[in-house]
Amino acid sequence: STLLSATDVVKHFRAGGGRAVQAVNGVSLEVVSGETLGVVGESGCGKSTLGRCLVRLTDLTSGTVEFQGQDITSLSRRRLRPLRPAMQLVFQDPYASLNPRRTAGDAVAEPLRIHGYGDAAAIRNRVAELFDLVGLARAHLDRYPHEFSGGQRQRIGIARAIALNPKLVVADEPVSALDVSVQAQVLNLFADLQEELGLTYVFIAHDLGVVRHVSDRIAVMYLGEVVEVAEAEELYAAPAHPYTNALLSAVPEIDDGSGAPRRERVVLTGDVPSPIDRPNGCSFHPRCPAAQALCRTERPALRSVAGRQVACHFPISPGSIAAE
Ligand code: SF4
Ligand code: MG
Repeated sequence: STLLSATDVVKHFRAGGGRAVQAVNGVSLEVVSGETLGVVGESGCGKSTLGRCLVRLTDLTSGTVEFQGQDITSLSRRRLRPLRPAMQLVFQDPYASLNPRRTAGDAVAEPLRIHGYGDAAAIRNRVAELFDLVGLARAHLDRYPHEFSGGQRQRIGIARAIALNPKLVVADEPVSALDVSVQAQVLNLFADLQEELGLTYVFIAHDLGVVRHVSDRIAVMYLGEVVEVAEAEELYAAPAHPYTNALLSAVPEIDDGSGAPRRERVVLTGDVPSPIDRPNGCSFHPRCPAAQALCRTERPALRSVAGRQVACHFPISPGSIAAE
């Protein structure tokens, strides 16, 4: 069943000179209970802003967000408060989100206190239980953030996020700041917690390699728009959008010995255009190797093609890559 649905979400900011930065530009997507939806795109594509819109940490410019069937688009802070425990965000940089003068135990206790979890003893027990759940030693409850490694600090951030038994966790590049060797451990923790607690994730990353093994479905974003949504396996086997294809070709492939052809590397030319000056038509056309005249004038809508959604006038035919 659908846990969260976003319809035509738009988020614009005012930049210097009063011009609008079109950070999120008409995104519609659904998050199914128990799944992990990966959201992938280059930095500046609006994925963090979208994440904040989904859990209403920011106001939308237009569009709607429904959580568990309730329209939360325009709820005030006060009306959102009882829903907060169910919708949580894990940040990229746990260090920045932790108060350096409060112990790890205090940091994890804070949401419990704010939402009236129980008396001091109940909160202490819950914090200890949460330390167990995220693989931190109870002996480290009274340590300060600087005494932990990056991976341990992210575990503290995760413990805070799951403290109140959320339904949905939006994780915004939760492993990007970590050493590669630690990334896998934290990704495994996310997977274990999902199984144990029945969590639903929106997992934001700039790298298709990171979300590959944690995502059931993947939404690819470019310049504030979702350009492709597909089952993870299908997306990797046969990307339909030329941008997905280019992103995938940049992921190092492991030779599995099957003799399958390696992906041809697609090098994107040019920078990501500014979200202040969006190109007309398909916003990817200045960089797209498959662009044709139509692409410069008409914006392609997200539509269903062979079991996935793709916003492209000339999608790569699914199967043309996988079938060989
Ligand atoms: Fe490329 Fe045209 Fe498709 Fe845009 S619509 S991705 S420019 S082929
Ligand atoms: Mg970001």
